[in-house]
Amino acid sequence: MIALDLQAFERGTLAAPHGFSPRSGGVSGAPFASLNLGASVGDAAPAVAENRRRVRAAFGVPEARWMTASQVHGAQVLVAGRDPVGAEGDALVADDPTWALAISAADCLPVLLLDVRTGAVGAAHAGWRGAVAGVVGATLEVMAARYGTAAADVRAWLGPAIRGACYQVGPEVVDAAIAAGAPEDAVRPDRGAAGRWRFDVPALVRAQLIAAGVPAEGVATSATCTHCAADRCFSHRRDAGRTGRHWAVLRPPG
Ligand SMILES: [Zn+2]
Repeated sequence: MIALDLQAFERGTLAAPHGFSPRSGGVSGAPFASLNLGASVGDAAPAVAENRRRVRAAFGVPEARWMTASQVHGAQVLVAGRDPVGAEGDALVADDPTWALAISAADCLPVLLLDVRTGAVGAAHAGWRGAVAGVVGATLEVMAARYGTAAADVRAWLGPAIRGACYQVGPEVVDAAIAAGAPEDAVRPDRGAAGRWRFDVPALVRAQLIAAGVPAEGVATSATCTHCAADRCFSHRRDAGRTGRHWAVLRPPG
């Protein structure tokens, strides 16, 4: 059995098992080469199953304890152990360390949250639509209601995502971003294209977390742009929709 080394996952500094899956180390062929974890992108099912097996083994969590969602760019939060695995939603929470949370992405921002006081965790899928819809605030609210999480105790890692320099959007997106609290550095006019903007979703989410009470020094952001890092990352925009998916994984500390 071939295993994946956890060292191959990009990680932040959260004091809990977590990581963003690498692009390599799997069995899928182009354009999904090689560690595609998306089951509905056109890749062969046996290849995806083997790739997922490798990721599960790297974290040492059996298949039945992986909480995932059918992501729809909304703000619905699913609770591990209460809601069905794979139900519709864009964020997951847990406080039981036998669970692993997995968010699927290939440009959209994965947001991993750890309550350092209670050990509860949350994971959100925040593309621009989800971020504007308030998925990150909704995740914090569910963690507060279920686990007693106080935002001051939350540490966050914003994983690899398409960054502002590579993410051109139109005015309708900019209006929504500003209404959702985007700071000045998150939306800039594109000097090369009239009426177009460059939108940095991680900058918006960072501002949303801080506005919700998460300490600024507790929010770390990956330096990886999925669009730039073709050797390490799938990118939906760069690859015109025909590409694989990563998992951003987080477990409550045991
Ligand atoms: Zn880039």
